[in-house]
Amino acid sequence: MNSGSYAAQAVYLDYNATTPMRPEALQATYDALQTVGNASSIHDHGREAAARVDHARQQVADMLNCSRGELIFTSGATEASNLALQAAYTQRDLIITSAVEHPAVLETARALVRDTPGALFVLPVDNKGRTDPGTLKATVEQRGVALVSIMLANNETGVITDLTPMIEAAHEAGALVHTDATQYVGRLPLDLGALDVDLLSLSAHKLGGPQGVGALFIRRGTPLPQRPLVFGGGHERGWRAGTLNVPGIAGLGAAAEAAHRQLGEEAPRITKLRDLLEGELLTQIPGSYINGAAASRLPGVTSITFPGAPADAVLASMPDVAASDGSACSAGAPSPSHVLLAMGLSREDADSTVRFSLGYATTEQEIRRAADATVRAVTHVRAVMGSTDSP
Ligand code: PLP
Repeated sequence: MNSGSYAAQAVYLDYNATTPMRPEALQATYDALQTVGNASSIHDHGREAAARVDHARQQVADMLNCSRGELIFTSGATEASNLALQAAYTQRDLIITSAVEHPAVLETARALVRDTPGALFVLPVDNKGRTDPGTLKATVEQRGVALVSIMLANNETGVITDLTPMIEAAHEAGALVHTDATQYVGRLPLDLGALDVDLLSLSAHKLGGPQGVGALFIRRGTPLPQRPLVFGGGHERGWRAGTLNVPGIAGLGAAAEAAHRQLGEEAPRITKLRDLLEGELLTQIPGSYINGAAASRLPGVTSITFPGAPADAVLASMPDVAASDGSACSAGAPSPSHVLLAMGLSREDADSTVRFSLGYATTEQEIRRAADATVRAVTHVRAVMGSTDSP
């Protein structure tokens, strides 16, 4: 793939951080940027911009099998989750979430309950990274009027949540369910006719669209007070004020359509490449192991621990591979991954874990190059660490 200027030679395996733009998304964004028009204006220019937004809304709705009126465009999944949790929490006295959520949910939940001790229940995960539907069921049955927010797939390990029994248990107890589907959308089929969540967050830049745009799905009929984060001109039916980001929204729509059209072919191809990478690394790097290997996972993600080789040193030793360490999703945070710690890894092992995330443009040749570079880097770091450790 063309990964840009200075890093053109690096193999890009950081799709969970952000994806390269799909050509369709690039074109749609560019076309929208080239035309003037505020989607709120009533003249032809405004109408053209509004038509681009309507088209994109339909493209996203088609991908999710929901209706256009159930989608609010936002600046990304972080804002969508903030919006969802803030609105839903006003009527509820408890937020139930999981220990492996992205900070977009965990920190929002913590902020909302700051003055209400006991109003947040964080479900643990097992050593495969899975939340237990039984624990959730017991908690909602006991506490009832709750907001449940559980991610559909984890950004660090790719572990997929068995959400359906959780949704059923939550609804039976009168709770609302939000899911952060940021890493799942566009990578595996998602049918909101079958997955009965009330609220769902997604982001364009994880499925081949531009950064800085996303959406919140609010199921029709969900009893939710309107509590915008941004007040102003009443855009997005009062949920999110501010002139619409027409180029970004057009890019999101085009990316959604392309991802939806291609995922039947992309998902198995990417899974095969991920398996190839894991096979090479596990056989060539003694002691290495995969986090969440026994769980159901997204096609293109692998979180691999190389005991005795700190990830920051490994990554620094292989500048020709763009991957990330466990904590990459939180800007500038040097602390070990809360996800891996929740799965029971030691701090040392969590710090010695690299996440490789593949996507629609990844090739077999790139995977072989990345595997070779990783084997060399881990061997080198272990040798250096070994020599500094010895007396
Ligand atoms: N949720 C998950 C699971 C993510 O991986 C990310 C991105 O890293 C986000 C939320 C935040 O998305 P955005 O960058 O659109 O705010």
